[in-house]
Amino acid sequence: MPTIADIFANPPLDETVDIAGWLRSRRDAASFSFLAINDGSCLANLQVIADCGLANYADEIKKLGTGCSLAVRGRLQQSPAQGQAVEVVADSVTPVGWADAASYPLQKKRHSLEFLREICHLRPRANTLAAVARTRSRLAFAIHSFLQERGFVQIQTPVITTSDCEGAGEMFQIAAQADGRHFFGKAAGLTVSGQLQAEAYALALGKVYTFGPTFRAENSNTSRHLAEFWMIEPEMAFCDLGGDMAMATALLQYVIGDAFEHSAADLTFFDSFIDKGLLVKLRAIAEQDFVHFTYDEAVARLQAAPVKFAQAPRWGIDLQSEHERWLAEELCKAPVIVTDYPAAIKPFYMRLADDGRTVAAMDILVPGIGEIIGGSQREERLSVLEERMRAAGMNLDEYQWYIDLRRFGSVPHAGFGLGFERLVQLVTGMANIRDVIAFPRAPGLAPC
Ligand code: ATP
Ligand code: MN
Repeated sequence: MPTIADIFANPPLDETVDIAGWLRSRRDAASFSFLAINDGSCLANLQVIADCGLANYADEIKKLGTGCSLAVRGRLQQSPAQGQAVEVVADSVTPVGWADAASYPLQKKRHSLEFLREICHLRPRANTLAAVARTRSRLAFAIHSFLQERGFVQIQTPVITTSDCEGAGEMFQIAAQADGRHFFGKAAGLTVSGQLQAEAYALALGKVYTFGPTFRAENSNTSRHLAEFWMIEPEMAFCDLGGDMAMATALLQYVIGDAFEHSAADLTFFDSFIDKGLLVKLRAIAEQDFVHFTYDEAVARLQAAPVKFAQAPRWGIDLQSEHERWLAEELCKAPVIVTDYPAAIKPFYMRLADDGRTVAAMDILVPGIGEIIGGSQREERLSVLEERMRAAGMNLDEYQWYIDLRRFGSVPHAGFGLGFERLVQLVTGMANIRDVIAFPRAPGLAPC
């Protein structure tokens, strides 16, 4: 059975087609009804004309309402009406599953995203959420394509871990068993990043990446944070910070280009209904060079900014979201890569500069969102790494496996983490991160 997207892409005019989907609306004329059917394969509905001569017209077809599922067989013809190229003249319309009109929460009208968030199990039937789901799926595919085409090997790093990727965020803890014992022999939690394990594989396979769920027990109720999100973490041996920046830039530009090609109808929808100007903004990101500032330069620009920030920018504190957004949205109107952050505010594994003041970190900031990528060149020198770990108060015994990577065949290497939901936000223009993942998890929020 073809999807509605197949039919629109390649209409088998004057042939009999079978379709199945959900009714969006029914409109009755004197001797027939128009049925608008959506099967989720694309944004557009397929119009079906059900004549009153059909055997179940009065009993069933006239009782079909929004949300009912149905199967249709009929002849595809050119549509005389405006607004659609083809329509189906039904030979049969078979209700599959009824939806009581009085209690079905979705109506033909537009619903607010806030309302839809309360019915996560039904919201993929709304145009916006379906378009997000399709775009998200294609973005995931494009990320795999980009990395696989460049020889990256995908690895699956553990969800349960005993290594806290220090500084990334609060780890969800796994409770002890009923007898008080730790199942894993010591305290374990849900991963905040697969980076440390990915490094082990990069130092064997060269270029690797992870694409997996990531958990942070941070109590941040923002439009850009989830407690469970997905992260893509490429890690490259024999790579420095410059190579890391170049790869991250190429990845972002590639996936946006892919979205223009393969998610065009959905992107046009977002541009019209969600974020006016989205297409122009994305085109610019895909084509223009990213701006590069060192942290020193970024702080100087922020201090000279003609705006008052809630938190005054000062050398030595981490850039706040308002700072990141001002740099990308107002000052540069382009993605900005900030590098070389103060060592004191970044984790132990980032490579220390010769003067000991900064580390080889990079964040990519984009308009509308702020940080979308965080990465670094890793500290490959055994003694410097150990010294940084001690300074951070870490127990080196627990990280011997990680230290081994510097004892045996260490090489300069670098990588980054791309927050998948933030990428979906960038490409769809959706303002709230809870609308770009199917079942969002946030403080107090995990209804199913
Ligand atoms: P932020 O400062 O925005 O909280 P971070 O610096 O803690 O982010 P990293 O540890 O660098 O984030 O993680 C890498 C990427 O993962 C980030 O650039 C971002 O895209 C994404 N990310 C981080 N935390 C979250 C979260 N709670 N929800 C969704 N995405 C996140
Ligand atoms: Mn970061």
